[in-house]
Amino acid sequence: MTSQKPLVAITGASSGIGEAVARAFSKAGHPVLLMARRRDRLEALGLPNAVIHQVDVRDRAAIAAAVADAEAKYGPVDMMFANAGIARLGDISRQPPEEWDEMIDINTKGMLNSVHAVMNGMIEREHGTLVMMSSIAGRKVYPDHTVYCGTKFFVHAISESLREYLAPHGVRVVVVSPGIIDTEVLDHVKDENTLANYKANKQAIGGGISADIVADLILNAYQQPQRAIVQEIVITPTRQQY
Ligand code: NDP
Repeated sequence: MTSQKPLVAITGASSGIGEAVARAFSKAGHPVLLMARRRDRLEALGLPNAVIHQVDVRDRAAIAAAVADAEAKYGPVDMMFANAGIARLGDISRQPPEEWDEMIDINTKGMLNSVHAVMNGMIEREHGTLVMMSSIAGRKVYPDHTVYCGTKFFVHAISESLREYLAPHGVRVVVVSPGIIDTEVLDHVKDENTLANYKANKQAIGGGISADIVADLILNAYQQPQRAIVQEIVITPTRQQY
């Protein structure tokens, strides 16, 4: 089946910001390639013109295969939202190093794997947009987010280098740096003190904001003419100071 609007690929589309972006672009008429490990959650979205692949972003070949499959149906990926990520926040002196490994592998290498699957095609076509999920924690550090901050500073550095590299090819790189957004991201934090502090801070500022707000901003950035780039989207609750 063909569509007039280009194909959009999203990693981490099974919940939170990725899910909201999937819904927003689908509503805007785009076919969508939905990737995550929880296939049932991708299917439950029930989006039209959706290609669903159970993908772990640590598996470079699996992302490439998913992209090839979706492109065979809907044409080239014009936007990759490299969004999949985890936040194992915790006190660095007590945190099991396995949590560092997991964050580094998913948030940094997984993001690069997602870019790799589509970048050369975008260069050839001189068209396309890479949307890179960083965080406010990619702009400033927090003492109980040490390795998470490291992964998000990595995303910022890669994104700015890629933006300069891809600018002569007409390909856009947009960094997204949210503050506290209401998603499932904290469900896997095991450090009880860190989680309690985060929740107390969140409550004190009146809670997080909806993932739909982030999705609308990404859609708006994407919809600008290809020769205009929103280099970074920084979006936080108004009352979030840090
Ligand atoms: P969620 O936990 O709701 O979503 C995370 C998504 O990433 C899920 O769809 C999950 O799918 C996917 N994911 C995790 N690991 C993998 C993997 N190995 N392979 C493929 N998919 C994976 O949280 P958010 O929506 O909040 O998180 C999305 C991004 O936003 C993350 O990069 C996060 O760091 C970033 N962010 C979030 C903020 C917030 O306050 N919520 C603030 C700033 C940045 P599945 O488990 O099915 O694989």
